[in-house]
Amino acid sequence: MKTKTRKPSIEACARCSGCGCEAKSKASKSGDAKVPMGWKRTSEGMLCRSCMQSAYRTVACALPIVKPLGATWDEFGTALRTAWERSTSLSTWAMARMHLADPGLDAEKKKLHPMPELNLYAEIRGRFPDVPCGTVAAMAQSLRSKYMSARFGIMVNNGKGGRSDWPKFRYPTPFPIRAQGSEWAVAKQGQEYILSFNLCDKRWDVVLRQGKDFRRQIGMVDQLIGGDALKCELALYSIRANDGDRRSGMSEREPGGGERSRRRVMAKLVLRIPRTTKRSGDRTMVLKALPHSFLVARMAGQTSNGWWLHGDHQMRRIAQHRRMMRRMSDDMKSEQRSKRGGLQGRISRQSKKHRDYMKSFVQTTAASIVSYAQRQHVGRIVFDDRKGEYFESFPWFEFWAYLKEKAMPIEVVSVSTFKAEKELAELELVLADMANREDRRNGRNDDDKDGSCNTVAGILAGA
Ligand SMILES: [Zn+2]
Repeated sequence: MKTKTRKPSIEACARCSGCGCEAKSKASKSGDAKVPMGWKRTSEGMLCRSCMQSAYRTVACALPIVKPLGATWDEFGTALRTAWERSTSLSTWAMARMHLADPGLDAEKKKLHPMPELNLYAEIRGRFPDVPCGTVAAMAQSLRSKYMSARFGIMVNNGKGGRSDWPKFRYPTPFPIRAQGSEWAVAKQGQEYILSFNLCDKRWDVVLRQGKDFRRQIGMVDQLIGGDALKCELALYSIRANDGDRRSGMSEREPGGGERSRRRVMAKLVLRIPRTTKRSGDRTMVLKALPHSFLVARMAGQTSNGWWLHGDHQMRRIAQHRRMMRRMSDDMKSEQRSKRGGLQGRISRQSKKHRDYMKSFVQTTAASIVSYAQRQHVGRIVFDDRKGEYFESFPWFEFWAYLKEKAMPIEVVSVSTFKAEKELAELELVLADMANREDRRNGRNDDDKDGSCNTVAGILAGA
């Protein structure tokens, strides 16, 4: 009897077409090297992780679906409903499965046991055989990372008065379709953009909406058709639409029954767009957070007034939000037990609204700093990474991370890690001058400030 033996895999060497670095990988059937983990294949060859990050940025463009081609909305709606039912029950099941396998906290309730290795992909495949393997792979990966990021907050922080909840999945949970092969593709036919994909054992062609509201998204789709951009994932989801919108879509009951409502079907295309080579020069720009204004930026070695962002409106909004949260949590007394649910709902809605607002503020601020830096031919942004005190709270870490990503190829460094001795003295003067200017603008002349906390030497000394 012949026993099945595994052929020993042949070692191969993958080479990055960007920087020329090499990594070990296995040989494919044709004898070429397979793409190593974290690398990506492009039209020119393979790119390593860091070359990929500096050459491309990942974007998601969401476009409404106008109509299916060669099928009615009823037929398309039935396929979508089946897909969403599967993605919703799959997500709920996978969360419960991971929760069951999770060993949780140790006996002293202090440390979290490591999560055991779980072959979620194989388990989901066994339980949901109708879901295509690409979709299962994409969902298993995203569900695992969702679970892992929620795990610590719930198991550790909830015992300490924190309030987090497991991710919940309501119908319709977005249905992802992987990019491998021709699982999905976009083409331009005449004036229309046609998206085609496999869904429920059938190939569907749908027309994507365009127009002035979607100019930015269509521009990215054009880059994909032209071969400059790379495709990642496609996700189909739906949003609630008003009857008065006069937009095509499907009508559906809310989960758990209720009135029929119109829903607009959306396609989210995740793409890798080549980074435009931004103009960058050799100047250094200093960015600093201040106690009475949000941010100021200025060129090193210049005495001009610089670029100011006071952010008074945001300061008021943050203060108002913090006050509201404090007062609402004060009202959560145990005597008010019966009303707690409602109040809890208001708190989480308010927090979400504020988080969304801050996220968009962080992104627009970073974008305007980068465009100012480009205009000024900046090659490096040095930021004073001590937090400003103007806002009661601000997601500084996210802000710096987003700025670094957005500014590429302009280098963003923190002043405390800045090592160029020669420029240090110059920066010191700029930072001190910025602080003085702000004091003057605010009509204050504090003598108690010795200025040590505004100098680079002061920062380096840990002042
Ligand atoms: Zn490389």
